[in-house]
Amino acid sequence: MKQLALHWKILIGMALGVIFGLVMSYVAGGSQFVGDYIKPFGTIFINLLKLIAIPLILASLIKGVSDLKDISKLSQMGGRTILTYISTTLVAVIIGLILVNTIQPGKSISVETRKELVEAYASDANQKREAAAKQSSAGPLQALVDIVPSNIFAAASNNRNMLQIIFFAMFFGIGIILIPEKESTSVKSFFDSFNAVILKLIDLIMLGAPYGVFALLAALVVEAPNLELFKALALYAITLLLGLATMIGVYALFVRVIVKKSISFFFRGIAPAQLLAFSTSSSAATLPVTMECVEDNLGVDKEVTSFVLPIGATINMDGTSVYQGVAAVFIAQAFGLDLSLAAQLGIIFTATLASIGTAAVPSAGIVMLVIVLAQAGIPEAGLALIFAIDRPLDMCRTVVNVTGDAAVSMFVAKSIGKLKN
Ligand code: ASP
Repeated sequence: MKQLALHWKILIGMALGVIFGLVMSYVAGGSQFVGDYIKPFGTIFINLLKLIAIPLILASLIKGVSDLKDISKLSQMGGRTILTYISTTLVAVIIGLILVNTIQPGKSISVETRKELVEAYASDANQKREAAAKQSSAGPLQALVDIVPSNIFAAASNNRNMLQIIFFAMFFGIGIILIPEKESTSVKSFFDSFNAVILKLIDLIMLGAPYGVFALLAALVVEAPNLELFKALALYAITLLLGLATMIGVYALFVRVIVKKSISFFFRGIAPAQLLAFSTSSSAATLPVTMECVEDNLGVDKEVTSFVLPIGATINMDGTSVYQGVAAVFIAQAFGLDLSLAAQLGIIFTATLASIGTAAVPSAGIVMLVIVLAQAGIPEAGLALIFAIDRPLDMCRTVVNVTGDAAVSMFVAKSIGKLKN
């Protein structure tokens, strides 16, 4: 398998994982075996990726910002990045809303199925509701306050605090730019070497990727809920997948028309990160590989990737945005509610904010969905409706989240002359 490209190895690992999981679900004691002896290797793989996320952000952002040498370059790149991220997010929510209003998947759910689903998943939904309640009980500017950590070690002790780490790294990088060069050389060269070491560690971790995704997918297959419920939700899933596919089409167009690169070049380059996003359901865990792909395969300068991608992994979630639009209206339809235009415009606003606030980890999107539902006056019990099918859809929306970050970083790189020809 040595000479195969990494994304093929990952793909083979995924396929074998699904087959193995399917076989084991039919063997007596098979599911138990997978849970006890296969799943832990998937967990170890994800842990390794998460382990590297915070050191990577620190090293690459401090290096990236301090390499910029002057503040005006930083604000120029920062402005463009944030603006493009918000625009793609808005496009994503709107695509989701148009599709769900046209296809109307919620109207096909019968009252009995609705009851069955709500009963089956009520306790899971409650857990997510409680998690969301914690997030939304704060004041309107809490999100801003949360960006600034009061203690860097406390911030670095939780992968959910990615934005705080980004803030600290940028602040530190700016400090380096502002002091005389002869005083900053040693701290700069420390972070340059630190960065090189982290990149090497990522290479090493990725050697285990095919086995990691095998374990993750085998475990997912044996843990999947029963097929009947999946069927009731098929139209909802199709609507969402259509929305996600449309978003992928939007990126393809964006890369072709605005960045002026071939579509196959883009997708070939980003494929390993997409496969990993699919297997891990986490843009944060995928970040190291996204950075590698965008730099090595898509020719984006380190100066841009080290800035644009960590921020993108944390705030730019276009797949999650499509999902929040589709899921909110789907639940409203299933409960027989007709949402007014004003309510739908409200969803565009809250879904955009919610996707920015969504942590880059599995199932974070469904937690933030609670906030979108509450704002729009849609029954939160409806969360239970979509629970059965959330994980596979989470895998797909994470692929879109990661692809969007890559497309935007190509655009930002091109706009400041940092994209290789
Ligand atoms: N799992 C997604 C991500 O990490 C977030 C979500 O649940 O939508 O990108």
